[in-house]
Amino acid sequence: MNIFDSAVSRLGKLKEVIGINDQDIALLSRSVKTNYAELNVGGEKLPAWRILHTNAIGTGKGGIRFHENVSEDEVRALAFWMGLKNSLADIPYGGAKGGVKFNPKNKTPKALEQISREYIKAFYKDLGENKDVPAPDVYTNSQTMGWMLDEFEKQIGKHEPGMITGKPVELGGIELRGKATSRGGFIVINEFAKNFGLTAQNTKVAVQGFGNAGANAAEFLANAGYKVVAVSDSKAGIFNEAGLNIAEVLKIKKQTGELAGCSNVQRITNAELLELNVDILVLAALENQITSENVANVRARNIVELANGPVTPEADAVLFSRGIPIVPDILANSGGVIVSYFEWAQNKSGGLFDEEYLAKKLEQKMQKSWQKVYNLYIEKEKKFDLRTCAYAIAVAKILVAERLRGA
Ligand code: NAD
Repeated sequence: MNIFDSAVSRLGKLKEVIGINDQDIALLSRSVKTNYAELNVGGEKLPAWRILHTNAIGTGKGGIRFHENVSEDEVRALAFWMGLKNSLADIPYGGAKGGVKFNPKNKTPKALEQISREYIKAFYKDLGENKDVPAPDVYTNSQTMGWMLDEFEKQIGKHEPGMITGKPVELGGIELRGKATSRGGFIVINEFAKNFGLTAQNTKVAVQGFGNAGANAAEFLANAGYKVVAVSDSKAGIFNEAGLNIAEVLKIKKQTGELAGCSNVQRITNAELLELNVDILVLAALENQITSENVANVRARNIVELANGPVTPEADAVLFSRGIPIVPDILANSGGVIVSYFEWAQNKSGGLFDEEYLAKKLEQKMQKSWQKVYNLYIEKEKKFDLRTCAYAIAVAKILVAERLRGA
């Protein structure tokens, strides 16, 4: 099964929870528009996509990924998850996603800029503050968004900062966006901990992925007293039973681009990190990390998905039967898109929002999302996992919007 089919296969369970039928599933599985182009950069042809999966609730919204494994199915799955995430977070967006298939690690900043500009030249007609609004994802960042905004404005001949979020503050971005995904994830972890009987001081955490989502989450958690015992990036992992010095790890990763130079640590492989005996395993790298192949070896007592789609449906079922709760991606990593919404609203309204107020608002929204999901989980007597409960709430809202539009 490809990753998109695997993602929508989870909708089947909702027949039991909210009584959706096969036509509803077909409607939720159909993308509104699929754009494909080959970007011509430096003699290479790079496959690129922008997929608007749903716009029933509002404009398209979702990041752009630069990665060698990007495929149409992956972009569509990510766009589908964005639609659910935005619905669950109660923000007036649909779901979209983009990606370019290449290895960004081999490229100079100049080449990355060219790719970003070619991407916009290919798709700008379907982007815009009231059409579809991109943001950063894996191996794209605020600089990428800055180049894309500039190219978009060149193409349309006017300013429109609300066409993209996660851009530099100087181009209309907001400071809070940088760490918003991990901040939101941290808020949800605290709520989860309260309801599932954990306290920061007695909780050992391992974090897979040390980029925007993972590294910042490790920092928030360590600062709050959680014991972060292991982290990893695409090259390798590091472990210290007594807890890593995350401030030092962040410094070394920033200086050298690697985790290897950290003192007082044991080197571990990525596979070993996923199998550590910890209270919380935070998955913040890529999809399909816990699968039917390795799920039997997972010893973590709880899992939090900061990445999109890191646990496959087959592994979900095994973990549920073993009583291992998973805080699902569409809930745990929604802080990024919530703050993107604040940025977009500020750009569109021309107002200037106070960042302390926005941070408070993010906290309230994350807590409310958690509460909705947890309440349904309790109401259904824990017969369905947290993911199914989150999907039920998100899907019900999308279907109401579809019906109100006459679907
Ligand atoms: P990033 O590019 O900043 O970081 C990705 C990290 O994952 C890097 O440290 C990389 O080395 C590591 N990595 C890659 N393959 C790995 C592997 N096999 N094992 C361990 N580490 C590996 O990307 P990001 O923005 O942090 O995104 C990470 C995940 O979070 C993705 O699934 C993304 O879709 C999701 N996400 C990100 C945001 C956001 O605002 N950035 C929002 C929502 C969801």
